[in-house]
Amino acid sequence: MNLRIPGPTPCPEEVLAAMTKQMVDHRGPEFKDVLLRVTERLKTFFQTKNDVVTLTAAGTGGLEAAIVNFLSPGERVLAVSIGVFGDRFAKIAETYGASVTRLRFEDGSAADPERIAAALADDPSISAVTVTHNETSTGVTNDLAAIAKVVKAADKLILVDAVSSLSAIDLPVDALELDVVVSGSQKGWMVPPGLSFISVSPRGWEANAKATMPRFYLDVREAKKSLDKGQTPWTPAVSIFYALDVALDMMLAEGMANIFERHRRIAQRTREGVKEMGLKPLVRDERYASNTVTAVWAPEGVEVKALRAALRERNVVVAGGQGALDGKIFRIGHLGYVTDADIEETLSVLHDVLPKVGYHAAAATA
Ligand SMILES: *Cc1c(COP(=O)(O)O)cnc(C)c1O
Repeated sequence: MNLRIPGPTPCPEEVLAAMTKQMVDHRGPEFKDVLLRVTERLKTFFQTKNDVVTLTAAGTGGLEAAIVNFLSPGERVLAVSIGVFGDRFAKIAETYGASVTRLRFEDGSAADPERIAAALADDPSISAVTVTHNETSTGVTNDLAAIAKVVKAADKLILVDAVSSLSAIDLPVDALELDVVVSGSQKGWMVPPGLSFISVSPRGWEANAKATMPRFYLDVREAKKSLDKGQTPWTPAVSIFYALDVALDMMLAEGMANIFERHRRIAQRTREGVKEMGLKPLVRDERYASNTVTAVWAPEGVEVKALRAALRERNVVVAGGQGALDGKIFRIGHLGYVTDADIEETLSVLHDVLPKVGYHAAAATA
């Protein structure tokens, strides 16, 4: 099966095999070794000296942690969104009582740093900004360096959803002075779902000391306190930690720069391949095209449902659209454990099945 959805992503055999290992005492020395080793190497990929805590949670749990640990009810937040996941981050903040101003950009567009700067200048009472690094629902990667620059110039806290980018797309957390950054095991990390990683800057901890939103399971201060003893506050997903341990070995062996380059190359090939067939990526400006997921408009006369079913029959599984884009686009995931051959196969099968689901060859050569 060529699983080409943007998470969960396929895992290497070595990673899967690691999960067959017997359980250990999660408060004993064996787990402590794994936890500390994993944490150190996560910091390498986060490119940070900040604390990184690992929660047993989906990426959304990590986003919830990024809200409830650093904000207070009534606090003014600017939620920058370019799609479904940016909207979700905003929704979580609202759910816990933050006073959220949404700055929503059109699907397919990246966020405009100048408009963020203007929104912050407009309302000095805003104290924090939420932003998605890579918007998985549209296949667009924000220029986080430019965004972080305006947020920091305005002296605000910046909370970043990097669930589908970190480890696959260069994201130097310390160089960009990002306060809270969230990623998730089942996206670029070649690991099954179940773990979420969060880095916290010194400024993030200062905000945490004042933040009064309710929290219990996702309390990062508890996580940090336990981490200092080589433990987690609650029972961790031990097997996923085993998997992550092995995945990080493999990632370090490949090298961070090589991983970024592989993702860049494969993404570019994906976009070129669909364009050669006459299809149109959703991203409006290719400079912001995602290196981890490509969203493509369904061509005239082709039903996404039928296309996905035809691909699946040929063992290629792609994702549909989310929210307002449901039925309008399909998405090809190319993150984590992905090779050039995986994408060549995807493109070749796509080319084969398109005419069978109503795509007119004439359009393809136009
Ligand atoms: C997948 C994803 C999430 C949510 O992760 P879950 O593990 O599905 O909860 C959040 N943000 C982005 C950008 C994602 O790609």
